[in-house]
Amino acid sequence: MRKNIVAGNWKMNKTLQEGLEFTKELNAALAGKELNCDVIIGAPFTHLASLAGEAKGFAIAAENCADKESGAYTGEVSASMVASTGAKYVILGHSERRAYYGETEAILTEKVKLTLANGLTPIFCIGEVKEEREAGKHMEVVEKQISEALFGLSAEDFAKLVIAYEPVWAIGTGLTATSEQAQEIHAHIRSVIANKYGAEIAENCTILYGGSCKASNAKELFSRPDVDGGLIGGASLSVDQFLPIVEAF
Ligand code: PEP
Repeated sequence: MRKNIVAGNWKMNKTLQEGLEFTKELNAALAGKELNCDVIIGAPFTHLASLAGEAKGFAIAAENCADKESGAYTGEVSASMVASTGAKYVILGHSERRAYYGETEAILTEKVKLTLANGLTPIFCIGEVKEEREAGKHMEVVEKQISEALFGLSAEDFAKLVIAYEPVWAIGTGLTATSEQAQEIHAHIRSVIANKYGAEIAENCTILYGGSCKASNAKELFSRPDVDGGLIGGASLSVDQFLPIVEAF
């Protein structure tokens, strides 16, 4: 069964103490609530173990992991280290990691494999930049990203992934894809998956929308049949803004 998910991505924001304060608040806000979606918070590596120990009713995600298993890679954090914190998900291929840290599809394939091998669920981000959208190339861009990075996986492994479609022009800009634009490309992504892995795996794949998703537009976006939730940046930094998005389902 396809899951609805609302996942926050704090990026490089919040000290550990601020993260714990948020966790306390979100625990209280979610207590006793019947939700129609799973809730995840993506946080910096330094916060993972503490947050995973305190979070009630939501799961914790890392925002990245290394493309190597272990060894002499100073400053890197492996998927097995992430798993040992109690985090359950890893956000991979975020456009900021692709743009600022040179993450290629080949690197991302390694990260996805290591994440899965350590029992974690990748939230795999794809999406076009503004120029590609304006040139009408968005469909082929996402198809290329997904096929190059992920189509070497077995069907069994692919079925474990969450996909996040995040048009780069909408991230942190206040511009949001219309729900028609989101539905159109999500349906396309699902059909690309169906062509490779079959209709059942495609139907069961959770595809999130990300890019200036907030309380005021979440309901409309999530009402579309192929939009299974959101990856939320700015609006995940306060419980006041994040909770109404969770409750949009
Ligand atoms: C993100 O970084 O994944 C994101 C969607 O950011 P924002 O919601 O701030 O656009």
